[in-house]
Amino acid sequence: MDFQKDYSLEELFKLADKVGGYRYHRLTEQDLEKYHEFDRWRYVNGDHDCGTTEESRQWVWENSDQQCPVCGDYFSQFKVRSIDHKLPRSQYPWLSLDFRNFWVICYPCNKEKGEMHWYQYEHYMFVHHRDRYPDVVLARPRELLKTLHR
Ligand SMILES: [Zn+2]
Repeated sequence: MDFQKDYSLEELFKLADKVGGYRYHRLTEQDLEKYHEFDRWRYVNGDHDCGTTEESRQWVWENSDQQCPVCGDYFSQFKVRSIDHKLPRSQYPWLSLDFRNFWVICYPCNKEKGEMHWYQYEHYMFVHHRDRYPDVVLARPRELLKTLHR
């Protein structure tokens, strides 16, 4: 595949399927270690979606605006900041601590995205929230995709 050009959604689904197969038979101990490393980086204790360690809090502060990039609402008591993995950590554990894979979105948007693969997510947004779709496309993890090509 030519990585210079942007993919169509269909091509991306194909690539996702190809790469997704990786997790079933090629996961290493190190991949899983990365998965848990994120937990340690994110919070001291408890179960927070937003960072609670000094480092992760700082990162969230430096990498988020006043508003959620998906819904555009201001972060608030109900729409708290949460660190989301664009490519789900459950499917791509080796990208658990790859900062190119992070963005800060509000908790309800994070919940809505769930474990969807990024391209399922784009498709979902196109169908259900077409007004937000262009912003989601802008946030597409293009650089990471290049690393998935092996
Ligand atoms: Zn939101």
